Amino acid sequence: MEIYKGKSVFGGIAIGKIRVYRKGKQQVKRQRVTDTDAEMARYRAAKEEAVRQLQGLYEKALKEVGEANAAIFEVHQMMLDDDDYNASVEHIVCSQEVNAEYAVAATGDNFAQMFASMDDDYMKERAADVHDISERLLTILNGADSAAADAGEPAIIAADDLAPSETVQLDKDQVLSFVTVHGSLNSHTAILARTMAIPALIGTPLPLDETVDGRLGIVDGSAGVIYVDPDEATLAAMREKQQAEKQKKELLQTLKGKENITLDGQKVMLYANIGNIKDLATVLQNDAGGIGLFRSEFIYLESDHYPTEEEQFRIYKQVAETMGNKRVIIRTLDIGADKKCDYFGMEPEENPALGYRAIRICLTRPEVFKTQLRALFRASAFGKIAIMYPMITGIQEVRQIKQIAEEVRKELTEQGIAIGDPEQGIMIETPAAVMVSDMLAKEVDFFSIGTNDLTQYTLAIDRQNTKLDAFYDAHHPAILRMISMVVENAHKAGIWAGICGELGADQTLTREFLAMGVDELSVSPGSILPIRKIVLETDVGAYKAGK
Ligand code: PEP
Ligand code: MG
Repeated sequence: MEIYKGKSVFGGIAIGKIRVYRKGKQQVKRQRVTDTDAEMARYRAAKEEAVRQLQGLYEKALKEVGEANAAIFEVHQMMLDDDDYNASVEHIVCSQEVNAEYAVAATGDNFAQMFASMDDDYMKERAADVHDISERLLTILNGADSAAADAGEPAIIAADDLAPSETVQLDKDQVLSFVTVHGSLNSHTAILARTMAIPALIGTPLPLDETVDGRLGIVDGSAGVIYVDPDEATLAAMREKQQAEKQKKELLQTLKGKENITLDGQKVMLYANIGNIKDLATVLQNDAGGIGLFRSEFIYLESDHYPTEEEQFRIYKQVAETMGNKRVIIRTLDIGADKKCDYFGMEPEENPALGYRAIRICLTRPEVFKTQLRALFRASAFGKIAIMYPMITGIQEVRQIKQIAEEVRKELTEQGIAIGDPEQGIMIETPAAVMVSDMLAKEVDFFSIGTNDLTQYTLAIDRQNTKLDAFYDAHHPAILRMISMVVENAHKAGIWAGICGELGADQTLTREFLAMGVDELSVSPGSILPIRKIVLETDVGAYKAGK
């Protein structure tokens, strides 16, 4: 048994085979197609081939391991014929005009999560089967041989590092855990691992060779440890720990449907952060009151071209409709820094985090910005969409944004296209925005504090630099004072203020945030119920008195 220690990104125990991630593999890219009929024909051909393969496996298993064990391959053949599954693939291909691989991966994810969240144990187990058939289809669609399909069991992914664009394209059902050699706690890869609520480690000195690849591994997320080839005693102890965590999670399920209200009657909104429509199932499972941050740039990162108005509209509409009357805050694209898109043709920069990113791109490339705004305004007719602008430093930017948004609203109205009346808010993630938050509050409908960047810019610490993790003190009094100041200024102007950076999920600060009067915490879906528990057990008045 080998033990490697890393830094914990998300807790939990994962037990499974380790798969060393090699760049370029296991990715499902979202590509636009013009001929959706041809794409559906590709899908149907892949399905026929999958049925044929499964029939072969059934016959082989029948001879070798008997009927009872072979039956699973029959079940998989039936699942491939499931009307709902096929209708979902068709709907995604045709309505979003995308490739079959993407539609299969998205459908597989959604169905597997739906099964996994059911009470019935038998139905729960079907999640693995949906995942299996989706993998088989993907392998066939990708033109790989069938042996590879059988290698597709969920695994612990070990990698040197993962760029956000790679992480978003990994098939979520294939990933039990992430363990990376590099990476920093505040990188977007770490954030995505938290969104997926899976155990994850970074900064783990793991050799990415045959001593690890294909071996049995155990990741203990909270202890920050991975065991390779664990001995029997460790395996037994970890299984027990995994069971205990499962029970703890089940207990939290009893908090579903409860209001987020403290013992002395203070309410707080608990929303979810997402990067993809695939995350919606977890948002619903965890009883989020809304979506506090939809990082729309992930739509751009998943794509090989500028997403069109129509493509974006369909995605935003789907989120809005799925969330019904709950607020969905969509942040306009925050490309730049670590989130790079080849087709934006951006030049290398000396200091990308301080560079050409987010709203700076939008304000200098209004055609890109307007396409997204048109999609957002149109989708706002189908639900409670709010638009949020990132990386604001001052009032001039906000006025410019509002002017462009107004032009878009006018254009759409003149064209007779239905639109809603979305709230418009900004992220407070630069020290400048904090210092002028009294002025900014008069211009917008809400504030959401991005503590990841705010900490980076306030403490002058590159959030991507793993060597600086020890210096990245998100509890620094400067940060806490800034949050308090922003909330106060928001309230003076009669608007609400929330936190959507990772600090919002820091359970050691929940009571402090309540004491500051923070109105909303937007966190990874898996953190909602644990925070609700703290809220329900807190007496804010008593906490303030005891400080
Ligand atoms: C933040 O900076 O805190 C934030 C929420 O945005 P991102 O992490 O995507 O930069
Ligand atoms: Mg940010």
